[in-house]
Amino acid sequence: MNANYEAGGYIEAWCTKCKLELGHTIVAMVDNIPRKVKCNTCEGQHMYRAKPSETNRTKLKNPARKPRAKGAIYEEYLSRLTGGDLSRARKYSFKENYKKDEILDHPTFGVGVVLSVIQTNKMEILFKDGTKLLSQNQ
Ligand SMILES: [Zn+2]
Repeated sequence: MNANYEAGGYIEAWCTKCKLELGHTIVAMVDNIPRKVKCNTCEGQHMYRAKPSETNRTKLKNPARKPRAKGAIYEEYLSRLTGGDLSRARKYSFKENYKKDEILDHPTFGVGVVLSVIQTNKMEILFKDGTKLLSQNQ
């Protein structure tokens, strides 16, 4: 902290009424920090604020960027491959043989996309809840 402030002292603060940084008179101190101030321009009393609303500034600087959910990636992948048409999804069976980018329908996990065939009898599938390893050609 810098200067020692005290009630009745002068401080530069953000006036919530004038919407400007102006000279204020400290009205009340809490823990050595100005709490309440009076604007020397409009004489309005308000809580001490060094800058205009900090939360608004943060929002402007960092527009909400949500990490993409697993589900969103899945939806995107699926619609890119099928164009929203899931009718060509094959019922999953470990006896069958699947290829990369093939759509399959699993009784438990739902519709999935074959991401890659790891071994002749093992493949990685992208389901709504994430990727899973499934057997094939058993
Ligand atoms: Zn003011």
